[in-house]
Amino acid sequence: MICLRDVRKVYPGGVTALDGVDLDVAAGEMVAIVGPSGSGKSTMLHLIGTLDRPSSGTVSVAGQDVAALGDAGLSRLRATAIGFVFQQFHLAAGVPALDNVADGLLYSGVPFRDRRRRAAAALERVGLAHRVDHKPHQLSGGERQRVAVARALVGSPSVLLADEPTGNLDSVSGRVVLDLLLSLEGTTVVMITHDREIAATLPRRVEMRDGRIVG
Ligand code: ADP
Repeated sequence: MICLRDVRKVYPGGVTALDGVDLDVAAGEMVAIVGPSGSGKSTMLHLIGTLDRPSSGTVSVAGQDVAALGDAGLSRLRATAIGFVFQQFHLAAGVPALDNVADGLLYSGVPFRDRRRRAAAALERVGLAHRVDHKPHQLSGGERQRVAVARALVGSPSVLLADEPTGNLDSVSGRVVLDLLLSLEGTTVVMITHDREIAATLPRRVEMRDGRIVG
């Protein structure tokens, strides 16, 4: 599902964030990415998510070589194969949960009514059927992150990428979000976490240091 070959990323200014990374993640695998701050975890997740391109090496997602895709192809891959969850939720302020989730389908070509119907189903799946009309400021942190997970899942992505999804949550809400992610059978999940306990609950851990995979 995910294949990185000798991937390097050098940012303008000369920082080498990834220094020859090889990684294979099979369909349906759940992987924790761990390592100290600055070791390249977010950079790697962004490359897998096609939000950025490597300086050299190849990145393939869902069988597609990212370098071979133009902007339209990349947008399609992102809209159909990849879901994102971020530490900061990134929900639209003042917008009801249902529409926040439905907007996850904006670039997928799904008609408006279907978007809302699928959004309602996704919110039900994360246990928030009773919160569809609530705006982000009317939700707890854990609920906001569950809305963000619903938005990531509404397009039925093959790959779910999560950058510290529990980093802003208390331990109880964090556990609920984690259990939700772990329950996504069939979805490939790659999750950055600095929390050793959380990392230990995932079947596979990839450890990074100085832009390399060290374990
Ligand atoms: P992590 O997620 O493990 O904390 P990052 O991937 O965010 O690590 O960063 C890896 C290295 O790349 C760090 O030294 C960081 O300062 C640098 N870096 C990250 N993003 C940028 C950027 N947009 N421009 C320049 N340097 C960056």
